[in-house]
Amino acid sequence: MTDDWLDSPFDPEQRYEHLEDVEPEFWKKKKLEDMSPREWELLCDGCGKCCLNKLEIRGRIKFTRTVCRFLDCQSCLCKIYEHRFKKVPDCRNIDLAAVREKPRWLPKTCAYWLLDNGQDLPDWHPLKMSLRNREVVSETGVNDYEDYIVDWPDL
Ligand code: SF4
Ligand code: SF4
Repeated sequence: MTDDWLDSPFDPEQRYEHLEDVEPEFWKKKKLEDMSPREWELLCDGCGKCCLNKLEIRGRIKFTRTVCRFLDCQSCLCKIYEHRFKKVPDCRNIDLAAVREKPRWLPKTCAYWLLDNGQDLPDWHPLKMSLRNREVVSETGVNDYEDYIVDWPDL
């Protein structure tokens, strides 16, 4: 079997490079159903936990520590993202129905699940790790850097 259909490497961090045309903190102002496709994509932190295999036992989902064979465990990226539904029949699209499905099968840290359940994104989420809306100053004119030490939790 050849691996010709494996996707070429994709850097998910590129999604966060040009946020100028994205409304700041859009996730606090819009419901999931009102988000644009780009906003929806930005919310996924790429944790890969939705690719864990799960069991449904007596109406509850139990996560296993086994992952889909197509998950790259280093990057937590799908190796066949563009072809995933063709190659893996039970691979699920993460849409609103999936987020609201009962019993819950997305992890509690999943951005979609958090927002749909009235919670904010955690501080480690890539959208909150940008320097926008933070009190940073230009290094020009700074004499003593020790005066500017911060202990932000995501640093
Ligand atoms: S669990 Fe949620 S945040 Fe994590 S990779 Fe899946 S969709 Fe993205
Ligand atoms: S095929 Fe689906 S379940 Fe498997 S790694 Fe890719 S996205 Fe995850």
